[in-house]
Order: sequence, then C-alpha cells, then structure tokens
Amino acid sequence: MIGPGGWDAAAVRRSAAAARDLAGLDARITGCRACPRLVEWREQVARDRRAAYRDQEYWGRPVPGFGPADARICVVGLAPAAHGANRTGRMFTGDRSGEWLYAALHRAGLASRAASVGVDDGLRLHGVRITAAVRCAPPANRPTPAERDTCRGWLDRELALLAPTLRVFLVLGAFGWTALWAALRAAGHPVPVAVPAFGHGVEVAVDGLGVHVLASYHVSQQNTFTGRLTAPMLDAVLARAVALAARHDPDGPDGSDGPDSSDSSDSSDSSDSSDSSDGVDGR
Ligand code: SF4
Repeated sequence: MIGPGGWDAAAVRRSAAAARDLAGLDARITGCRACPRLVEWREQVARDRRAAYRDQEYWGRPVPGFGPADARICVVGLAPAAHGANRTGRMFTGDRSGEWLYAALHRAGLASRAASVGVDDGLRLHGVRITAAVRCAPPANRPTPAERDTCRGWLDRELALLAPTLRVFLVLGAFGWTALWAALRAAGHPVPVAVPAFGHGVEVAVDGLGVHVLASYHVSQQNTFTGRLTAPMLDAVLARAVALAARHDPDGPDGSDGPDSSDSSDSSDSSDSSDSSDGVDGR
C-alpha cells in the first residue's frame, strides 16, 4: 500500500524513527499520507463538512496524540471520528465520545476541564496522554488491518518515547486492544503469546516491562447510550489506572512499589470481545 507522495509503511517507520521527541513525532504524523483510502476519506469529509459545522475549517489530517510527554497513563482509542477529531485536530474532541471521556478524565483529576472543545481551549491533561491505533478518520469507523498495521509505526514510536514514565495503558475497545498488544510485542516486550481476551475491566500486568494494561469498553455512543458503558464503570477503570500509576510513582502514595511490582494479573475476562461502532472516534 503506497499513498500519495510515495508514503508507505516503511516510510512511516523511517519518519517515526527519526523523531527525537513527541513534539517532533506529532509534527511528522500530521503530514502522513500512507493510506490512500484514508487520505481520500479524511480530506473529502473536510471538504464536504456536516451542515452543523459548515462554517468551520476541518483539520482533515492525521490527528496526533494529546497529553504531556511524561505521562504515566496512556489512553489508546481506535481512530479519529470524521466530524470529531478529524474536524478539530485533537483526539476525542468535538463529539459525544469525547464528552464522555474528558468528563471522566476530569472527575479522575487527569484533565483541567470537563470538556474538550478545540485545540485552543486551554485544556490540559495531567499525567495522561490520549492516542489511537489509527490516526486518520476511516469510513464507517472501520480501518482495514493493513491501515492499522501501517499506522502502527507511529504508535510504536510514540510508546517508545513515552516509555520512561509510562506505567499504565488504558485501552478503549477491542480494536485498540489488538493494536496495542501487537505494538508491545513488536517492541520486544515480554507480552503473553496469545493476546489476552478483551473485556471491560480486564487487567494484565506485563512482567518485566513494569506496566499494566487495562481494558474498557469504548466510549462510543452505541455503548454509552445503551448503558453498556456507564459513567461509574468508566470512573472505576480510570480510578484503577490512576492507582496503578501511583503505585509505580516514587513520589506517589505508595512509592515503595517499584516497576517490578507483581500486581495480580487477570486476563481471563472474555465476557465480551466485540466492539461497537457508532461513528464517533472508533469503537
Ligand atoms: S492512518 Fe496513519 S499511516 Fe495511514 S495515512 Fe493516516 S497517519 Fe498515515
């Protein structure tokens, strides 16, 4: 798969590898054109626009991660929504999914405000970075496996740059779950041979890496409108992420618990391995 301008998966990896820091990586991501189908879709959506946003200029490009470079928690979603992040240029910003996520992050003490409106709204995240498996809005919120694998070059590098402080991954939805485990495996980390089954509340300690991987149902409208994911459910998994991150924090409430902490692992919850799609920031 070769995109406009000759971009392909190898070019993504070369460009990502050359990024010395997250700011540099983010800048490189926004210029990526490796996936022809997604490039065409994101730009078409930006040209056509939804009636409600007709007077706005859409971002229409890949969306970089959002949050500080020394984050201890990384939230991994699926992909930008056509009229959400693809419009505003910030992950989970401009749609109902984002309203849910940022409100929960604020309740957890991880966001300075309860709403993310746009890139210039002054919102700050504390100790958490939000990223996605795929950086461009896909038609019907469904990236292909090839697009996911091509975009993983960016995710791999982002995780490597975050590694010195990162202690907890919180993955929203099964698509991101699969992508994250592939990224960890590709980086040579000692992850389970079989990808642990996805399910809300699943928690896996990656021995030797000093991180925990948590799973949550995606904050999609299909999940939140139906009550499959409730605010208390999301609050609980975020609270767990905060607690685990603090356990590894030498300045935290339990600073004696270092990276080799052997918190119990539970990858057995396979109650639901499906994702739901609702057209907003993936599943
Ligand atoms: S999905 Fe990722 S790899 Fe594909 S064009 Fe967008 S940023 Fe590039």
